Amino acid sequence: MQQIDKTPRLTDAGYIRDLLERHGFHFSKKLGQNFLINPSVCPRMAEACGIGPDGGVLEIGPGIGVLTRELARQAGRVVAIELDDRLPPVLAETLAGVDNVSFVWGDRMKLDLRRILQEQFGDRPVAVCANLPYYITSPIIMMLLESRLPVDNITVMVQKEAAQRLCAAPGTREAGAVTLAVQYYAEAQTLFGVSRGSFMPAPNVDSAVIRLRIRKQPPCAVRNEALMFRLIRAGFNQRRKTLLNSLTGAGYAKEALAAAFETAGIAPTARAEQLTLPEWAAIADALTQ
Ligand code: SAM
Repeated sequence: MQQIDKTPRLTDAGYIRDLLERHGFHFSKKLGQNFLINPSVCPRMAEACGIGPDGGVLEIGPGIGVLTRELARQAGRVVAIELDDRLPPVLAETLAGVDNVSFVWGDRMKLDLRRILQEQFGDRPVAVCANLPYYITSPIIMMLLESRLPVDNITVMVQKEAAQRLCAAPGTREAGAVTLAVQYYAEAQTLFGVSRGSFMPAPNVDSAVIRLRIRKQPPCAVRNEALMFRLIRAGFNQRRKTLLNSLTGAGYAKEALAAAFETAGIAPTARAEQLTLPEWAAIADALTQ
């Protein structure tokens, strides 16, 4: 473990106010800036991503560096991507003397993460760890999963309701299209809840830390993944209807669908939330034949 102080200052509201005032920094709502001030959360998140001195962590949105510092204590190397170009002088102060962290300034949604991971970490084991801005939680997670980055896990703080959706068991009311997409790429687990008072400024919602362990192989084979996900989205868009009707409404011919359902062994009265991933794959395969 790196010899980096477990400084309590970055979770001390008075210190943060003074720090930000000295740098003329005001929180941006637009960028989802709610900084962690609960001292027990960052060590737990860093431990949960399970990366030690031989590995690397990619952090998205370091803010003033409270999680970054803890990751740098536990992992060999940390690369943090931050969009807010007012933060470099703040981070230069809060991470002074920490030499295993580097920054990439830019929008996570527009950067070539595969190249960054290769350049910065080579063949080391890597995890993604972040307190994600709420406004782009699902797009960031889906982009990380769909780009099949060579990472072991994605351990992130998200809004509590998003955690429930992302980690829902199939067939439950919380499960949606995004639940199945996550399941295809990863094993999802909610690790612990975090109250709104753990942030500065406090948001109007509670949060939870989830871990997505990336699967080496998807849980089912499918010939056309894109088609399967289109069907899943169309099915959940109108989840009260029978699948046959919701998919017909989304532009698929009823006869072709009915034949595909029969081949896949799915009842024509089935609804989106009743199907498992292998069953969605079977319908997509039958439509591909
Ligand atoms: N990690 C810090 C913490 O836990 O206190 C800050 C977390 S704050 C919820 C989200 C951070 O993500 C902010 O620093 C914000 O500027 C940054 N951010 C927002 N959108 C981003 C994007 N598209 N790419 C990179 N960083 C982004």
